[in-house]
Amino acid sequence: MNSIQATVNKILTYSCVDGPGNRLVIFLQGCNFSCVTCHNPYTVGLCNHCGDCIPACHANALELIDGQIAFDPSACDQCDACLDICPISASPMVQNISVADILEIARKNKPFLSGITVSGGEATLQLKFVITLFEAIKADSELKSLTCFVDTNGHLGAQSWGRLLPVTDGVMLDIKAFDPALHHGLTGQNNAKTLKAAKTVRDADKLYELRFLVIPGKTDTEAEIDGLTKFALSLGPDIRVRLNAFQHHGVRAEAQGWETMTKTGIDKIAAHLRKAGIPEVITPAFYL
Ligand code: SF4
Ligand code: SF4
Repeated sequence: MNSIQATVNKILTYSCVDGPGNRLVIFLQGCNFSCVTCHNPYTVGLCNHCGDCIPACHANALELIDGQIAFDPSACDQCDACLDICPISASPMVQNISVADILEIARKNKPFLSGITVSGGEATLQLKFVITLFEAIKADSELKSLTCFVDTNGHLGAQSWGRLLPVTDGVMLDIKAFDPALHHGLTGQNNAKTLKAAKTVRDADKLYELRFLVIPGKTDTEAEIDGLTKFALSLGPDIRVRLNAFQHHGVRAEAQGWETMTKTGIDKIAAHLRKAGIPEVITPAFYL
């Protein structure tokens, strides 16, 4: 089973913002949301090998071989021109990486790691890989002390959560908005599954934190912050909420014109949440 592969956009061997401690983070390619505020829109699509990005590559790092895009990492200087031109928000630089490959990377970095986080894109779209990876880590005498976390939009059915949660130590769950119409406008999907998922994960005692992107004039309204407060408190008294501040980096053209979120605005909302009884509210370390 360790030969099962995932389509991987990027691997970080050190991150302290993707769960507790220092973590190996695997960013899987592909997403079922289409967020106008996504900072990594090139992780959304899956390459269809159209070849449109090849002329954009000044380094000759891309070619079509037997109808498949082929990427030469040794020639690439990471200019990102291919990402800018792709019509379906995909990347020609993704790699197919097996569970065995990830275990090897984890072994090499083990002295510095607290755990592994699978992120995206949307990690749960490649559920079989995630489950197999987490099972393999827990069965490995050298790696079993590493915690296994998922960063997700929560758009996953009950049966799938039933398979994922037993092998997962923690879940970071993004809620984009509480008003259904606003959520649909921001993501292209409804929020019912995500809200249900938060309760399912919490009932399994695996909810590490809720994440909420604060966008001026959209998700910083009284109704949205009230929705966040009530929902978080309904999950229990010890809930942890991370507020993220909307910034322009990477976002689509429509959102480039939106006002960015300031530290003053975030601090005000954080104070409100703490006063309402949410014990742990995390705010951004910096604002770009
Ligand atoms: S990355 Fe995009 S532009 Fe390049 S081959 Fe794939 S689908 Fe076409
Ligand atoms: S990021 Fe790499 S593959 Fe893409 S266009 Fe630039 S050099 Fe070519």
